[in-house]
Amino acid sequence: MNEVNAPLAAHRDHRREWKDFLYVYPVISRRSHGVSLGVNLNPDKICNFDCVYCEVDRRTPPRTRIVDLDLLERELRALLDVWKSGDLFRAPPFALAPPEARRLNDIAFSGDGEPTTFARFSEACALVARVKRETVGDSVKIVLITDAAGLDRADVRRGLDILDANQGEVWAKLDAGTEAGYRLVNRSSVRFDRILKNIEATGKKRPICIQSLFLKVRGKGPPPEEIAAYVERLRHLVAAGSRIQEVQVYTVARPTPEVWATALPAGDLEAIARRVRDATGLTVGVYP
Ligand code: SF4
Repeated sequence: MNEVNAPLAAHRDHRREWKDFLYVYPVISRRSHGVSLGVNLNPDKICNFDCVYCEVDRRTPPRTRIVDLDLLERELRALLDVWKSGDLFRAPPFALAPPEARRLNDIAFSGDGEPTTFARFSEACALVARVKRETVGDSVKIVLITDAAGLDRADVRRGLDILDANQGEVWAKLDAGTEAGYRLVNRSSVRFDRILKNIEATGKKRPICIQSLFLKVRGKGPPPEEIAAYVERLRHLVAAGSRIQEVQVYTVARPTPEVWATALPAGDLEAIARRVRDATGLTVGVYP
């Protein structure tokens, strides 16, 4: 296990907020190996999934339901300044981050819902790409963290083309191998085969990461047939020509709103990762 896999206090604090900002927030991300500036295109907290492990607090009303792209740009520029000046690391939890976790890795579309449901998604991609170009340049990525349900929308495909030209990465969620497992964990009305088709088509156009969260439901981990089906889905994606640069296998790191959804032990995650590696040859990172 390397240092990024050892949870640090700064990693454990994943509050998605910065002062009174509405749309942009910093986190120290284990899976980004550094600082990630989150861009929340869903301040209304509406999502097309209802994952059992979702950490978005939907009991308190949203501070806003609209996305003001001009304000979002001002917040993004201000937070980039705060990171550049080092002021970010003067306050907890960022003050606890070791030097190697302080580099800015990415600006990530990831917030209180699914970013690709935002009607002006491609406009938001163009905005972030422009700000990045004018401030931190090519060394910083733009990451889209997505449940994949909207990757077939025309405006989203335009947005992905913009990301492709600006060090973009797509991190697509795949938490199950069967329709039943998907319904149990992600509780979405979107059909599972649409998710799989979208991941396949997106991966054929550019390299993607798959992020897979496995957990215990009422004390039981995923059954063997679920894991076998999941591994088979990945094998099929590779065979179909999707370029998967990494599979990230992880579990819940903080208490979930559903008390019966709990963390899977590190050994079980490692066993899943081994099966994926053996069956597909893919690179698999484990984040217990
Ligand atoms: S896709 Fe993300 S925001 Fe939506 S319910 Fe799942 S974890 Fe929550």
